[in-house]
Amino acid sequence: MLERMRSRASRTSAARIVRRSLPGLLAAAWLIQAACAPRPMQFEPAPPPRTVAWFGFHAMVETNKDAAGLLAEIPALAKLGVNLIFAEVDYNYEYVSHPELRGPDPISKETARKMSALCRSLGIRLVPEFQSLGHQSWAEKTYALLTKYPQFDETPGQFPGNKDIYCRSWCPLNPGVLPIINQLYDELLDAFEADALHVGMDEVFLIGSDFCPLCKGHDPAELFTKAVKDAYDHIVTDRGKEMFMWGDRLLDGAAIGFGEWEASMNGTFPAVDRIPKDIIVCDWHYELNEANAYPSIPFLLEKGFRVLPTSFKDPVQVKALIDYSLKFPKDRMLGHLCTIWGGMKKGKTRNYPPLIAAAKLLRAGSSKVGAAVQPEKGRMP
Ligand SMILES: [Zn+2]
Repeated sequence: MLERMRSRASRTSAARIVRRSLPGLLAAAWLIQAACAPRPMQFEPAPPPRTVAWFGFHAMVETNKDAAGLLAEIPALAKLGVNLIFAEVDYNYEYVSHPELRGPDPISKETARKMSALCRSLGIRLVPEFQSLGHQSWAEKTYALLTKYPQFDETPGQFPGNKDIYCRSWCPLNPGVLPIINQLYDELLDAFEADALHVGMDEVFLIGSDFCPLCKGHDPAELFTKAVKDAYDHIVTDRGKEMFMWGDRLLDGAAIGFGEWEASMNGTFPAVDRIPKDIIVCDWHYELNEANAYPSIPFLLEKGFRVLPTSFKDPVQVKALIDYSLKFPKDRMLGHLCTIWGGMKKGKTRNYPPLIAAAKLLRAGSSKVGAAVQPEKGRMP
C-alpha cells in the first residue's frame, strides 16, 4: 500500500502548496530569529503532555511480513504511549467461511491471536480494519470480492484495467454482499479477540452509479447511509461491538473547505444526520483547510459523534491537528490517530517522526476511557 500512501501524499494541489508556503516561511524566519536570539539562562521544561483517551496508530497487515513487523514494534509503540492499534487486514486473512477471498499471503488465526495477546499484555486495544464499500481495488488490481463475484461491482464490466477510476466499490443494494461481508467481519472479530471493528468507508467515489442497475437514480446519501447502517446493524446491534469508520464521506466538502478526498463532493454527506451517533468517526486530515482550521472536528462533535482526529506524515501538521483538537472537551474528542499506509517495519516504525511528534504532545489515558464514554445525542453545551 505504499502506492496508496504516495497517492494520498500527492494529492496536495499546487494552490495548497502556495497557501502552505507562507506559514512555512514565517516558521523558518522565526527559527532563524530564535537561533540568533540570546539564549535564556535557565532551562525551561516543555509543558507536560495532554492526557487523552486514545493515542492510536494505524498500519496495514497485508502479509505475514507485515504481521511480524507489527509484533516487533508493538512494545516500542506501547512505550511511546500508544494504546490503540488499527490493523488493516482487509482480505489478507485466512478466511474459513470464504477461502476464495483470501489474499495471496494471508495471516493465520494463530498470528492474529499472537498480536491480540501481545497488545492485551501491554494495555493496547487492537482493532482490525476491513475496507468496506469503497477501496475494492487499487491501481490495476481488483481485490478478491469483485474478482470472485463481479456481479457485486457497482460498475460491472466498466473501466477495464481500472483505468480512469480511483477505486472500485461494491454495490450497497446487492443483497448478495452482506451475508459474505458479515462473515468476514465475524472472523476478524474472533481472530483478533476484538471489541471493535473499523469498517473503513473512506474515499468512496463510485456510488449510485448509472452503470449499476440497482443503484442508478438513487441518492448517494441514501446509499451511503444504508451501507453504514448495514455494517452497524451487524457489528454493533448484533455482535455488541464498537464500530469505527473514516469520516470524509460525512463532510460537506463545499461548506467545510476540504477537497474531494478529505470531504465529500459527491453527495454522500447528508448521511451524517442519518447514521447512529455511537459510531466513532476517525476524522483524517493531512493538512489544515483553506481557513487554517479543522472545522470538521467541532462539526462532528456537535452532531453527537465521538471523534478521533487522524494525521499522516508531516510532523508539523500533526502538531497543528493535535493542538487544534485539544481545544475540545475530551470526553468525545478521543485523542489522536497516527497513520502509515504500509506495514510496520521492525526497528523503524517506532522512530516514525509523526509518531514521535504526537507522543511528545499527548499522554494516553486509561484504555477504558474511550470505550466507556457514551455519545450524547444532543448538541454540545
Ligand atoms: Zn449498486
